[in-house]
Amino acid sequence: MAKQQFKAESKRLLEMMINSIYTQREIFLRELISNSSDAIDKIYYKALTDDGLVFNKDDYFIKLTIDKENRALTITDTGIGMTKEDLENNLGIIANSGSFAFKNENEAKDGHNIIGQFGVGFYSAFMVADKVTVLSRALGSDEAYKWESTGADGYSIEPADKETVGTEIILTIKENTEDDSYDEYLEEYRLKSIIKKYSDFIRYPIKMDVTGHRPKEDAEGEFEEYKEEQTVNSMVPIWRKNKSELTDEDYHNFYMEKRYGFDKPISHIHIKADGAVVYNAILFIPEKTPFDYYTKEYEKGLELYSNGVLIMDKCGDLLPDYFSFVKGMVDSEDLSLNISRELLQHDRQLKLIAKNIQSKIKSQLQSLLKDDREKYENFYESFGRQLKFGVYNDYGMNKDVLQDLLLFTSSKEKKLVSLDEYVSRMPEDQKYIYYAAGESVERLEKLPQCELVADKGFEILYFTDDIDEFAIKMILNYKEKEFKNVSSGDLGIEPDEKDEEAKNEENDNKELFEHLSSLLSGKVVKVKASKRLKSHPVCLSTEGEVTIEMEKVLNAMPS
Ligand code: ADP
Ligand code: MG
Repeated sequence: MAKQQFKAESKRLLEMMINSIYTQREIFLRELISNSSDAIDKIYYKALTDDGLVFNKDDYFIKLTIDKENRALTITDTGIGMTKEDLENNLGIIANSGSFAFKNENEAKDGHNIIGQFGVGFYSAFMVADKVTVLSRALGSDEAYKWESTGADGYSIEPADKETVGTEIILTIKENTEDDSYDEYLEEYRLKSIIKKYSDFIRYPIKMDVTGHRPKEDAEGEFEEYKEEQTVNSMVPIWRKNKSELTDEDYHNFYMEKRYGFDKPISHIHIKADGAVVYNAILFIPEKTPFDYYTKEYEKGLELYSNGVLIMDKCGDLLPDYFSFVKGMVDSEDLSLNISRELLQHDRQLKLIAKNIQSKIKSQLQSLLKDDREKYENFYESFGRQLKFGVYNDYGMNKDVLQDLLLFTSSKEKKLVSLDEYVSRMPEDQKYIYYAAGESVERLEKLPQCELVADKGFEILYFTDDIDEFAIKMILNYKEKEFKNVSSGDLGIEPDEKDEEAKNEENDNKELFEHLSSLLSGKVVKVKASKRLKSHPVCLSTEGEVTIEMEKVLNAMPS
């Protein structure tokens, strides 16, 4: 039979696609299995409304068969099948949807710039196969057809035999080349792991004959190989189940299975949203920082599924940097994907989801802070620094989200307090939120500048993290209370009568002050009598915005 030619532009697109659209070859299996699943959906829904069709649950499945000798990988489904016309229309012309158009020739070289969305998933098979054979019998038809193609040079269709309704896709896997190995797509374990990764939650069983070993019956100590049909996918994703059916252990198991981390997460959030955008999500707040967390290598993101099929391992757009520690997944039917399913077509839905998720994380953290202080402090130990960076970055734009989540060690009992706790127990005559910045709590406690504040009975926040003071400068004030470094010039509590006293001291000891000034010239701006010292003879203080501690940090930064 004469070969049908692919349309000219299809030919070009096919070559281009095979080589550039997909970044990973293994996704061919995701595409073919998704097609099978779609085809079963179609027959399933038909059977629901058509009394003439009777199907059992067991009738719906997808099966993979490996034939190493012939380098054949077959994907069989019991879906709705294709007629001769379907084969021609659906597989014969790439970009069947008609929206096939390039912005211009140049952009055609980059698959990501193609306008519109259309089906090409099937063609990804040519990334691993040099021949694809499709054997199909459509529902309601007595005839079966075989479609075959070796790639860009066209395809043939001819009548064939097939007993049952459905489709069989036979891939003849490419031979290994010097640079590329294709043998792996004929290996059980490899195929299993690809299915697990992308198609674990396809709602029909994906079956495979898996090799096992068992003791031989009459030969002791010897084993024989046998094949056993297994269902590889788990089918019902945990995130589709009801929260009431699930225990903490179920969530923890999921966390481990997914290898989100090796710790025990302190909390999980299970979201089933059906408002402006419909999605399910399971998020985890880890307990411990991953080893690379505070490095450039760490990559934030959530797994992104489109209707149960994994699209992206780490979708960074779903998480703001300050919540980059959150692990988990999002599944939505509302995403419009581009041609390769590796990029999202419009990010409007994604933005909505991200916004939604962000507020859920925030309120989860807030309720932990309120109801399970110990857990929260554990969490804060690991990720508090990231929250403070979050306040500081973007010019404090996110301070409203984050300021209530911050904790600092307080001079009172040296415990962690939130800003809200601090402010709510301020005596009436206290104007400022006082803090001291330095290396350690022990050193800060001995700081002469703290003495006057402490004597007044005012609480002091000890900032021992580099980022603390910078973050606070972004917050500026909390519940209308300004922050004040105890080393700054005016603390607002120096007794007025001390003004006079200090002046007199300076006048009476003019020579001493002049001598000290000249000794320290270039190191300090001014030497003057202090109004605030009690038991200490001297202290350093600053005027203006940048404090001594901040200066130290700034000086230590690479310029
Ligand atoms: P998409 O799935 O996005 O439509 P594909 O290139 O993956 O694009 O598939 C093209 C079309 O071929 C499908 O829309 C479907 O009509 C048909 N098709 C592919 N695989 C099968 C199958 N296993 N059973 C029935 N129809 C199929
Ligand atoms: Mg498809």
